[in-house]
Amino acid sequence: MKLLRSELVAGFSDKLFEIPVSSLNLKGLEFRKEIIMCRLSSESIPKGFTLKGSLAFSFLKSCDRCLEKFEDVHNPAFKLWLTSNMDLIKDENIDVIPFPNTMSDIDLKNVFHDFIFLEDPLKYLCSNDCKGLCHHCGLNLNNNSCNCVTISTDTPFDMLENMVR
Ligand SMILES: [Zn+2]
Ligand SMILES: [Zn+2]
Repeated sequence: MKLLRSELVAGFSDKLFEIPVSSLNLKGLEFRKEIIMCRLSSESIPKGFTLKGSLAFSFLKSCDRCLEKFEDVHNPAFKLWLTSNMDLIKDENIDVIPFPNTMSDIDLKNVFHDFIFLEDPLKYLCSNDCKGLCHHCGLNLNNNSCNCVTISTDTPFDMLENMVR
């Protein structure tokens, strides 16, 4: 997603951008929609600009417990500095982006790519109390209930135990 220096100089507030998922090289991630929404505000600061905004997108994930596909919504907020001040850039602050005066535009593709990957969790659950699948019959216990639990405790040994008592 490219921003022109002239746009930044003019400044904008809560502007909406549509970023095609395909433009960000996000291999291995599945999205609910092919468009990532970006809301962005820009202001001039000495030797550069600040960009404040947020992304809105949903991963399409399979639950680790019940294997159902579900929508995993993310709205990461961010603040970036675009600057020609090389001292700031050496500060190793990842949110500072070099923007020398000779550049007429800036591509935020790589920055957004990283933001989105940071949002990808290691574990995917459709909900924190997902009941998962029955180990015996494989039924999804979130929408159904099966009789396996009672059957599995009702083993011949239980019967024996009852007889001994
Ligand atoms: Zn689940
Ligand atoms: Zn079962």
